[in-house]
Amino acid sequence: MSNNVTLTIDGQSVSVPAGVTIWGAARQLGIHIPTLCHHFDLKPYAGCRVCVVEVEGARSLAAACAFPVSEGMVVRTNTQKVREARKLVVELLLANHPHDCLTCDRSQNCELQALALELGIHEIRFKGAKPNWPLDNNNPSLVRDQNKCILCGRCVRICSEKQTVNVYTFANRGFDSTVTPAFGKGLDKVKCTFCGQCSAICPTGAITVKDDTEKVMAAINDPSKVVIVQTAPAVRVALGEMFGGEPGSIVTGKMVGALKMLGFDRVLDTNFTADLTIMEEAHEFLDRFKNKYDMPMITSCSPGWINFLELFYPELVKHHSSCKSPQQMFGALVKTYYAETQKIDPKNIVSVSIMPCTAKKFEALRPEMRSSGFQDVDYVLTTRELGKLLKSSGIYFDEVREQAYDSLMGVGTGAGTIFGNTGGVMEAALRTAYEVVTGKTLANVELTEVRGLGGIREADIDLEGTKIRVAVAHGLGNARQVMEIIKSGNPNKWDFVEVMACPGGCISGGGQPISRDINYRAKRIAGLYEDDRRLPLRKSHENPEITAIYKDYLGEPGGRKSHRLLHTHLVKQGREIDAN
Ligand code: SF4
Ligand code: SF4
Ligand code: SF4
Repeated sequence: MSNNVTLTIDGQSVSVPAGVTIWGAARQLGIHIPTLCHHFDLKPYAGCRVCVVEVEGARSLAAACAFPVSEGMVVRTNTQKVREARKLVVELLLANHPHDCLTCDRSQNCELQALALELGIHEIRFKGAKPNWPLDNNNPSLVRDQNKCILCGRCVRICSEKQTVNVYTFANRGFDSTVTPAFGKGLDKVKCTFCGQCSAICPTGAITVKDDTEKVMAAINDPSKVVIVQTAPAVRVALGEMFGGEPGSIVTGKMVGALKMLGFDRVLDTNFTADLTIMEEAHEFLDRFKNKYDMPMITSCSPGWINFLELFYPELVKHHSSCKSPQQMFGALVKTYYAETQKIDPKNIVSVSIMPCTAKKFEALRPEMRSSGFQDVDYVLTTRELGKLLKSSGIYFDEVREQAYDSLMGVGTGAGTIFGNTGGVMEAALRTAYEVVTGKTLANVELTEVRGLGGIREADIDLEGTKIRVAVAHGLGNARQVMEIIKSGNPNKWDFVEVMACPGGCISGGGQPISRDINYRAKRIAGLYEDDRRLPLRKSHENPEITAIYKDYLGEPGGRKSHRLLHTHLVKQGREIDAN
């Protein structure tokens, strides 16, 4: 029996499954209904009323983002009444808004600005008082400017619905209404993971990424410094979007060429240390598995997840691998191994990373991350910051000549590249673990059992008679469920668990380009798997630069030198406010 509902929107008939909203049905007809509070990642909210439409027979306008369709419904989305109502909503928002578009970080990518243009608002009819909230910028990752907040609640909902961290709440009434962490504290004082999902979903410039581009350009312009940049796996399938490209387009060669045009002295690949992570982690996992301690072992390259674990489950940190993230392994090696091999004084090296992630800025500043004797990674730029830096430097990205990474720490395998999506670290580790355990060649490297976008995925992996029970979780809400299972007496359910803080993994990290494509995660993930397929080497242990570093410098995986440079320990983070 068909469960479909047929209705008419703007004179066109459409049939959709029962339960779909008017907004969803209109989308199927190619009709755009503007929204501000609504977002495809969140449950309907109907807070801003920008999406109002006329429904025949209804006394008042309906919020299309939350109003479910019904059989025979007749909807009009573009009448004079609808247009005037939408315009009034936006005009009232603009009355109290600082009109800082010329200098605002989100200008040209701001949903409020775009909506004002779309609705033909050419003057501010209502003059209201402007709020004067202080900036919240005492953390390394994010800046909150509540003066630009339109109270859409997206940040409140992503942080509670998806991440279950519950940092934000609505406070006060009327003109003093605002969205804030508990007791008006800054993000540095509460249990925020710095995952940056709130900045990626905010429609305006109210939550932005802290801008470190000027510090990096100052280093590049200092002739006494050798500025070395590493680029994370997920950046190569998203940076193109900053220049109008499709999500998932692989722009590795252009990105390397553009970084050289900016003036970086060496352009190297974080995929190299992703491969190194696998070598260290496979060794660590097999030791724990054989000797049965601190199981299941949890793996991740996500510093937002590490913050979550330390803040909310400090009693379970022993389950986590002691491996540093690829970013931090890279930083430690660039000022030791690379410096020695290339005969560069490490004190003259400035180590920069291009990351999809806002929490990486926090990670780089952790006191443990100085095993080279210096701060291992000096500056972290997100993909969005790099895009803006390239634009402000007059570089036409589409016309940049493709270049290859420099050698030594510039070679990565397909296993390294898939670190950028959920399930990738697990798949990469299993490709190597299989060959180490069985001594045989893994014929089909594509372990589809751990792929996909299911929130928690489980599989039994058969290593020729040795069964490994694995689980993969992405998004902190799913991670919390996994941790509750481990905590509440079922620690033997899995042997190996991968967790990423951001939904979909690093491909939709808080510092990635902001996309309005409902399928952007799947497209970026497809881009990374395509990159994996195209690369000549697809297993970490086959990377010749990995073989060389163990032979010439580190000795063996899990050895003394590896432990000093590539491993760390997790701590219990003290923050004043527990929002839960
Ligand atoms: S948030 Fe948007 S509308 Fe407000 S100043 Fe920034 S760009 Fe302009
Ligand atoms: S950075 Fe993440 S944890 Fe912190 S407030 Fe934003 S969404 Fe919540
Ligand atoms: S900070 Fe941004 S996402 Fe949060 S309520 Fe304000 S405008 Fe919306």
